[in-house]
Amino acid sequence: MKIAIIGTGYVGLVTGVCFAELGNKVICVDNDSKKINSLKKLIIPIYEPGLDDLVKRNVKNKRLSFSTSIKDAVNNSEVIFIAVGTPPRENGEADLTGIENVARSIAKAMSSYRLIVEKSTVPIETGIWVEHTIKLNINKKIKFDVASNPEFLREGQAIDDFMHPDRIVIGVESQRAKEILTSLYKPIGAPIVVTDIKSAELIKHASNSFLATKISFINAIAQICDLTGADVAKVAEGMGLDKRIGRAFLNAGIGYGGSCFPKDLDAFVKICEKYGYDFKLLKIVKDINHRQKQIFVDKIKDALWILKDKCIGVLGLAFKPNTDDIRESAAIDIIKRLLQEGASIQVFDPQGMEKSKAILEGVKFCRDPYEAAKKSDCLVVLTEWSEFKELDFKLIKKLMRQPLIIDGRNIYDKVLLKKLGFRYICVGRPKI
Ligand code: NAD
Repeated sequence: MKIAIIGTGYVGLVTGVCFAELGNKVICVDNDSKKINSLKKLIIPIYEPGLDDLVKRNVKNKRLSFSTSIKDAVNNSEVIFIAVGTPPRENGEADLTGIENVARSIAKAMSSYRLIVEKSTVPIETGIWVEHTIKLNINKKIKFDVASNPEFLREGQAIDDFMHPDRIVIGVESQRAKEILTSLYKPIGAPIVVTDIKSAELIKHASNSFLATKISFINAIAQICDLTGADVAKVAEGMGLDKRIGRAFLNAGIGYGGSCFPKDLDAFVKICEKYGYDFKLLKIVKDINHRQKQIFVDKIKDALWILKDKCIGVLGLAFKPNTDDIRESAAIDIIKRLLQEGASIQVFDPQGMEKSKAILEGVKFCRDPYEAAKKSDCLVVLTEWSEFKELDFKLIKKLMRQPLIIDGRNIYDKVLLKKLGFRYICVGRPKI
């Protein structure tokens, strides 16, 4: 099929390149001309494992191209995915300006039937507004369909998630739209849930809210563990082996972050409010998540007493491993709180440094974990990159001012660290 993807960010680029890899002809569009120019030169603007090779291969095969023109893309495609950002407004609602603008531009460019698919995460009823916007801006004789196809990929493993999803959700209101999307996704071979548009929109918000709830739940359990001496790792294992619960998203730590959960929960709470439902449960999920960061900073304070002029080595900036995405990263939030306390920070992250430099002032960005540890009063783990799990701890100990590790992601073997002479503090696990 001929496909246009409007919005070439983490979701749009991955979606575009994966559809091209499946044999479709794809045009990825963005209004950021710098981004499109660098993609045309095969410079990939984000870090995502495997993305680079896939982009190069599909551009070479002429199945993937890049443009700043929605008009050209709409003229040359049957299916148009909208994958622009839906950032939070100050009051927590999703800002759908980009969706409306794109819907208007698509409508103006359409000369025959097109299927317009919402890929971005949007509140329930956005589909109705997209349809309305297109109707207002289109030649009345042209037929079109709107569909919802929320994306569930995770940054850091986005290509694998796209190619091997647990399920594909398709919200449609016509047989034609259903047939186009089911045949487009057929090669992937995953279960396809076909529903109406509103339910598809709701599935995405409900899924992210449920996952965030799991994280806040285990973080609340971690608090009980810290207070009682129980071990949250064992509690999660014991709970997670129950198939009704599942082990995923039961890792206690410094709370969730990223460009999705915080904004999606806010937007979901807001849209529920609009319909007269006060989703108190999600407000508490958010509150637990917010407090989790301060609780972790308090652990550092408890261990170091006064933070002013203390040197803290930090491992991790990205909101999770295998990505350069630092949007709403809990690590950045915690570093800002430590800076406010007067601590000096030296940090290393394998991919998150460039983007962090623009928002973190007065921080030393290091070449590797060892430089971050050098002459520090404690080493703090904020992102669980695999390479942080296998460090030369004997060298780390020699480099540090005192052998103290405070682990916000519970990645280390506490017995081993104790044997090596470290004081080791983590989240929800008893000290030994
Ligand atoms: P992003 O910020 O990385 O990308 C969005 C892109 O859209 C940007 O490149 C921006 O320049 C472009 N854009 C904005 N307005 C435009 C316009 N009018 N015309 C053309 N291009 C325009 O965002 P993202 O992380 O890819 O997220 C996109 C959507 O997908 C959001 O709704 C998000 O919630 C959802 N989502 C994200 C993820 C994720 O892991 N990042 C996963 C699932 C769903």
